[in-house]
Amino acid sequence: MTRPVQASIHLAALRHNLSQVRYAAPHSRVWAVVKADAYGHGLSRVWSALSGADGFAMLNLEDAIQLRERGWKGPILMLEGFFDAQELALFDRYRLTTSLHSRWQIKALADARLSAPLDVYLKINSGMNRLGFVPEQVHRVWRQLRELKNVGEMTLMAHFADADRPDGVDAPMARISQAAEGLEAPRSLANSAATLWHPQTHYDWVRPGIVLYGASPSGRWCDIASAGLRPAMTLSSEIIGVQTLKAGERVGYGSRYCASGEQRIGIVACGYADGYPRVAPDGTPVLVGGVRTGLVGTVSMDMLAVDLTPCPQAGIGTPVELWGEQIRIDDVAAASGTIGYELMCALAPRVPVVTA
Ligand SMILES: *Cc1c(COP(=O)(O)O)cnc(C)c1O
Repeated sequence: MTRPVQASIHLAALRHNLSQVRYAAPHSRVWAVVKADAYGHGLSRVWSALSGADGFAMLNLEDAIQLRERGWKGPILMLEGFFDAQELALFDRYRLTTSLHSRWQIKALADARLSAPLDVYLKINSGMNRLGFVPEQVHRVWRQLRELKNVGEMTLMAHFADADRPDGVDAPMARISQAAEGLEAPRSLANSAATLWHPQTHYDWVRPGIVLYGASPSGRWCDIASAGLRPAMTLSSEIIGVQTLKAGERVGYGSRYCASGEQRIGIVACGYADGYPRVAPDGTPVLVGGVRTGLVGTVSMDMLAVDLTPCPQAGIGTPVELWGEQIRIDDVAAASGTIGYELMCALAPRVPVVTA
């Protein structure tokens, strides 16, 4: 028998979530954001399920080339553009749309020898102060780009720091309007949170990531409970050992958990080297044989322990869901002080993946 930990990727859920995005933003085109190997789901596995999108947005040049070689002919947006002027030859060859966020990139694009102009996304700093031009610079840069023979279609792009809050896009939207005033330009502003919760941000192209994978942009499952999204990843395993503790006996490294009375616990073949968060506290939800129970004791590299009190029928071989349809990745993440994004991106390479 092989070690029973496994991730299942649900292609129908991805297709369904994309259709929910279309429903939320019916007048916009959709960039399916597939950076970080499609948020840990595997770009090569998921792209065809998401190929109903109008384009794919990512960071990694190798991933973009792979997508072209697998036959994707539609737009590909490189969210951080090129990292080096030499990459422009590949942007040209594979016809990649580039974000432009710094002056050196504009100079490099002006100086490049391309076979045809590249479409560009001019990045406005919305106030998040990561990448992009401040509003006062945007008109000048825009005019400068307009003159370049290497520049094809131009789109204004910005990103929101707080779109999961009800008033979180107000100030950035004001900055973006100021920057874009008088420019006849398509816009792409909305991440998942803005796509779901701020229709005034939708414009020409939305850029959802996390909602395609069925988790919450806010980190709280309850915020998307009514959005009709389905989790695209299940992390599952089995019980490989059972212990019966007496009152006062302890479980795992650091002896963190102490039984208050006689208690059966199950040992699950999944640990932090599989991507399960080591910091998960006692009580983090786990599904054992279809019954909700909780983690007990510190997560080890290869194992974790669960309370079998609510599921006395469980024993060796009983299936365990760490996250998926029943146990929300957002809830495991919240218990561990993080967000679903981090857990899905951290799925370890050693975990076998099946598509379902
Ligand atoms: C990651 C990313 C997105 C998608 O963000 P989600 O919160 O996952 O929807 C959109 N735009 C940019 C520029 C990004 O880096």
